[in-house]
Amino acid sequence: MDIPQGLFCQSCGMPMSKPEDFGTNADGGKNEDYCSNCFRNGAFTNPSITLPEMIEFCAGFSKDMGMTPEAAHAMLTEFLPTLKRWKQ
Ligand SMILES: [Zn+2]
Repeated sequence: MDIPQGLFCQSCGMPMSKPEDFGTNADGGKNEDYCSNCFRNGAFTNPSITLPEMIEFCAGFSKDMGMTPEAAHAMLTEFLPTLKRWKQ
């Protein structure tokens, strides 16, 4: 499987390259761990989402990833648990 290169969101796995891709800290600064969908103004936008829910949510973007939903689901099931937000 392909692990994205460079910086990617430690919550949903989205690659982050443009400044607007990055989340923001409470002080308005750039947060390099999480994307703007997951983390804004120093807090998770959906603090109660579970790992299985995040996998389902991200698998919905399988077309953008150039994958079938099944392949995306399998990749995310392996990949997301390695990210900072989900690592125990
Ligand atoms: Zn994210």
